[in-house]
Amino acid sequence: MSLQSSPHHVLVLNCGSSSLKFAILDATTSEEVISGLAERLGSSSPSVKYKYLGKKQLIELAPDQAHSAAINTLVSLINEHHLAENLIAVGHRVVHGGEHFTKSVLIDDDVIKGITQAATLAPLHGHANLLGIAAAQASFKGLPQVAVFDTAFHQTMGNVAYLYALPYKLYTDYGVRRYGFHGTSHYYVTGQTAALLNQPIKQSNFISAHLGNGCSVCAIKNGKSVDTSMGLTPLEGLMMGTRSGDIDPGLFNFLTTQLNYDAQQIDDLLNQQSGLLGISELSNDCRTIEEAAVAGNEKAILALEMFCYRLAKQIAAFMVPLQRLDALIFTGGIGENSDIIRDKVITQLSYLGLDCDSTANLAARFGTQGIISSHNAKTKAVVMPTNEEWVIALDAASIAQEL
Ligand code: ADP
Repeated sequence: MSLQSSPHHVLVLNCGSSSLKFAILDATTSEEVISGLAERLGSSSPSVKYKYLGKKQLIELAPDQAHSAAINTLVSLINEHHLAENLIAVGHRVVHGGEHFTKSVLIDDDVIKGITQAATLAPLHGHANLLGIAAAQASFKGLPQVAVFDTAFHQTMGNVAYLYALPYKLYTDYGVRRYGFHGTSHYYVTGQTAALLNQPIKQSNFISAHLGNGCSVCAIKNGKSVDTSMGLTPLEGLMMGTRSGDIDPGLFNFLTTQLNYDAQQIDDLLNQQSGLLGISELSNDCRTIEEAAVAGNEKAILALEMFCYRLAKQIAAFMVPLQRLDALIFTGGIGENSDIIRDKVITQLSYLGLDCDSTANLAARFGTQGIISSHNAKTKAVVMPTNEEWVIALDAASIAQEL
């Protein structure tokens, strides 16, 4: 990925299984021209909401309409507001690039084959990404289409970090290994933090904690990912909104033999019913849990404590590949806003030379970046708002300009 600037507009598409997030950004300034979200695609009540010139609007789609209808609506919006003339590329967020894709690429038939192959590792996401690409290719025929992979930044991990202790053939024959996700975000905040600390990225050791609905930690040595908490799928590692993170794989046998669960039910349990939601029995939303915890709700308190303990434990583990830590970076909706979680995590890691300046910690929210450790701290704690869309726009613009 490259952070070179471009003066033109890029359409950024992020296709989920039942949603499509879109934005047109100026790749030079990161300024957003239009942004929106098509959701509940394929259901009885799909809709597209969008923001243009500061005004929010909602368009209802017909029942059962899905990705191509959402893209058609987007094309109508682009035409209606005369936004096409400055568009130079379409950038697609692609969740899984397998081992094949180590950087962003111009989409051609071979790339589609590669994405299709990698989609066997993440069927839901992969299928949605391919639908989005096909619909965009049909609607924006003249524009270069670029794929930006969530996994690409982690392709610098060594085999000691990325292999599971499973029969080696599962890796060589089926690609079963750890890939990691949120790569675009970890990459972006690494560059921004090096700039904030005025420290050359190639001599910087950082740990980045991307904490949103999905959560992952990445160990970054001299600008390169050397380990990350997510694995073959985005389920491994930290406790998340509805995902369990690490569990004993022996649970699979217990659930099947004792409780008659099938594979789909186990997948659903681990991905949809666990994490903050599973423990709090209240919500997957961190704000709701923090409010309940402040009001004395014991399960909400436990959910927060577990979230922070497991996060601190993972960060401490990443001192093995890093040995020296210059900064701990918080990003994502929780990382950028929750002073409570940042304070709890930093307190458990004080032996790494981290501390928390309470005024700076309280001030860093709603998109504000800042150093939240004291001046004397040996290791800096940083809040850095992420901007995955901008990285996608930059990569798409720079690849389009090379054509
Ligand atoms: P996604 O992974 O879907 O992109 P986000 O990065 O937007 O998600 O993060 C969503 C999470 O951020 C939710 O758990 C939400 O409660 C949390 N969050 C947002 N604002 C705050 C806040 N002010 N305090 C605590 N948590 C917050």
